[in-house]
Amino acid sequence: MEFSSKKELTTEEKRKIALERAKELRGRIEDYLQVKDKIFTGFDIQDKVQQQKKRILEVLGGTEENWNDWKWQIANRIKDTEMFRKIFDISDEQAEIIDSVGKKFRWAISPYYASLMLEPNDKDPIYLQSIPTMAEITDNYGVDDPMGEEFTSPAPAITRRYPDRLIINVTNQCAMYCRHCQRRRNIGEIDTHKPKEVLQEALDYIRANPEIRDVLITGGDALMLSNNMLDWLLGELDKIEHVEIKRLGTRTLVTLPQRITPGLCSIIEKYPPIYINTQFNHPREVTPEVGKAADMLIKAGAVLGNQAVLLKGVNNDPNVMKKLNHALLKVRIRPYYIFHAKQVTGTSHFITSVDEGLEIMEKLRGYTSGLAVPTYIINAPQGYGKTPVLPQYILESDGNKVKLRTWEKREIDYQVRH
Ligand code: SF4
Repeated sequence: MEFSSKKELTTEEKRKIALERAKELRGRIEDYLQVKDKIFTGFDIQDKVQQQKKRILEVLGGTEENWNDWKWQIANRIKDTEMFRKIFDISDEQAEIIDSVGKKFRWAISPYYASLMLEPNDKDPIYLQSIPTMAEITDNYGVDDPMGEEFTSPAPAITRRYPDRLIINVTNQCAMYCRHCQRRRNIGEIDTHKPKEVLQEALDYIRANPEIRDVLITGGDALMLSNNMLDWLLGELDKIEHVEIKRLGTRTLVTLPQRITPGLCSIIEKYPPIYINTQFNHPREVTPEVGKAADMLIKAGAVLGNQAVLLKGVNNDPNVMKKLNHALLKVRIRPYYIFHAKQVTGTSHFITSVDEGLEIMEKLRGYTSGLAVPTYIINAPQGYGKTPVLPQYILESDGNKVKLRTWEKREIDYQVRH
């Protein structure tokens, strides 16, 4: 029945219709309500995490103070099976796989991120993202640089793929080397920050191109730079009049929230506006430490967004993705993008079908707050840019008259008059 034909109804009758509709709406998410408490966030597993933290500190000979010190976390990254086996119970065969795959693709995991692992095997989303698995070397599908970044670098340390914005790659270092990393070709054997002279050249390029209004500092991980270096770089960018906003690309909020210190926040506070994009891929990564770090950054004036990567075995499930987005909103990090995993050498086991991504988007839009609905993106090969992909909501159109398909799959004719 159309609402216009319901004018004659009494208030009571209208309430009855509203109650029926409310029941129908609740039914739309019944499947999610059934499973949501079984999908754990990092807040839900704190007993286990604290036990593991204690064990890791014992093995590494560290203190609570050490744990909260990001430099200690970096210096004590777990990066060999001898150390890993002192903490987690793995088989000889598993250790051999980690060793042999790790020779080809370097690995290192912060003690903090390791404490979030519930099971030391590839069914665990934390393990799968951080520890080498056989799948990395059994399929050679993909290329080292699917984005053709080498061909979009008009100046040292710069990647430019868009008209008004660009990236400065400041380091190859990360708190952890993610197994799905699109830039794993840059990880190499040693951690190196770009020398100041190279960054000067990058800044010169930005100064000479007044159409650049948005600069993303990334790597590697932008927050692997020292506070002094960040202070200098953000300060230089801040002096360039046409640079309206600065962004930092970092996964430290996920893998090393201890990096968010009062000292770092005082730098962030000096150079607004600063947007920070991070990469949470599973609800278990959202922990009390993350909540605290996010709170500090927000108080320093930063705006926080999440760019998840759609990863088979980690988050290729509409319910997991919904729970992740809800958990992020609770700590004031706005879900921004879901990236389809790129076809990078050694990562094909993470790649899902596009249909799986569309199904996730279908189950988000309308089923939950718009704030919890990021944009699903396929990065066009060769650096041709982010391309949004979404379910089809316009079934027919002549420009003014369209047939819409709503989130509940109702078909509705919509006429525009102008
Ligand atoms: S933090 Fe980012 S750049 Fe570093 S390894 Fe992970 S995905 Fe790659």
